[in-house]
Amino acid sequence: MENKPIKIALLGLGTVGTGVYKLLSMRADDMPQIAGAPIEISHILVRNASKPRSGVETALLTDNWNDIISDPEVSIVVELMGGIEPAHTYIKEALQANKNVVTANKDLIAVHGGELLDLAEEHHCDLQFEASVAGAIPIIHPLKQSLAGNRITEIMGIVNGTTNYILTRMTEDGMEFSEALAKATELGYAEADPTADIEGYDAGRKVAIMASIAFHSRVTFDDVFTEGITNIQARDIRYAKEMGKAVKLLGVACNTNEGIEVRVHPMLIPSSHPLATVNNAFNAVFVHGDALDDAMFMGRGAGELPTASAVTGDIIDTARNILMHCTGRIGCTCYKKLPIKKMEDIKSKYYLRLEVENRMGVLAGVTGVLGNNGVSISQVLQKASDTDSAELVVITDTVRERHMRDALTILSNMSMVHKIASVIRVY
Ligand code: NAP
Repeated sequence: MENKPIKIALLGLGTVGTGVYKLLSMRADDMPQIAGAPIEISHILVRNASKPRSGVETALLTDNWNDIISDPEVSIVVELMGGIEPAHTYIKEALQANKNVVTANKDLIAVHGGELLDLAEEHHCDLQFEASVAGAIPIIHPLKQSLAGNRITEIMGIVNGTTNYILTRMTEDGMEFSEALAKATELGYAEADPTADIEGYDAGRKVAIMASIAFHSRVTFDDVFTEGITNIQARDIRYAKEMGKAVKLLGVACNTNEGIEVRVHPMLIPSSHPLATVNNAFNAVFVHGDALDDAMFMGRGAGELPTASAVTGDIIDTARNILMHCTGRIGCTCYKKLPIKKMEDIKSKYYLRLEVENRMGVLAGVTGVLGNNGVSISQVLQKASDTDSAELVVITDTVRERHMRDALTILSNMSMVHKIASVIRVY
């Protein structure tokens, strides 16, 4: 055990930065035993250093990055500002100055992770980012270490708490999307601009990070197909429930013989699937490997202390590595270059809800178009109808996405089909 503290700098003192500050204070007495040395925050970078921050020593605050990068005593830079710049530049400069880095920044890692991991390796530094995927849930370390003996073939997860909360309200309270979003905003689950969450971009970044590590091949956010939950209606969730299924926004990564599938979209999953019972703002990641079989990790995907839990774990791990002179031990694990499968080539079952003309022959017309495009039908239900129009719900058998899209294009041009109201993939 060392008496000399390991000095760290926090970049950012928002939700997560404040959580890390609090958690390190809460554990300060135990840190020499847990990490091997005391951990001392020596600088905190913020945009506005004169803004009062309750419970924080003002002498630690700075708005000048040079105070940190030029301090040779700082051995871990903890980036909790978010966004691409200046976080990207600061992390690069920290690694080039042989400082270890811990970050929670999924936006940055999903795009520049490969380059930053290479830089960390070059400088024998740690670059740890457990909090960038699913907040408190340990998934990066398990994939890199505990599950390293497996060939991981599938990862499927609920990795965005905001959308899971919205879908839970729509399921349990029958709310429509806009009402559930307003509730999420009121409770602080959704940001003022919820686009990244509700369009699936946030989940897409997390899927890119997990797929890269699980399949040992670099996947970036641009490779991930994303479709959000804005078109889901309460009646789709109700009909799914009647069929014994739940609607979830899932991030899916599969390592197939034809390449890597990476996608985020709403999906109907059986109510008996473990992910179907993960509700409200909780996250969960389901992993399948050839040796482990199935495992599921569940917990809080965001929030002050939950996210600080993952960041603090990375700080402690890095501190131990510093003391054992073995930083940079686990760098980039992407040693393969696997192709990314096009979305048109993936295979899935589909739930379709069509608003159609209410007359004889319409069902035959619709099923005919589907059949002509190689889409076979597993189930058809006629739902609400009035004198002019009827609602058809169709569940297809497994079909290639390209064929489904062709069929939908033809259906959308038929006068008997008033509207293709919903298209949701089925697990
Ligand atoms: P936040 O509440 O918006 O806080 C950001 C902090 O960074 C603020 O203290 C801000 O300073 C500082 N900052 C921003 N830009 C800066 C700049 N150019 N120079 C200096 N300081 C700057 O953000 P957060 O929610 O804590 O998120 C931080 C990171 O954690 C993000 O990458 C996010 O994706 C990730 N994350 C967050 C959660 C969560 O639950 N919030 C969960 C998982 C991962 P001022 O205080 O002066 O404005």
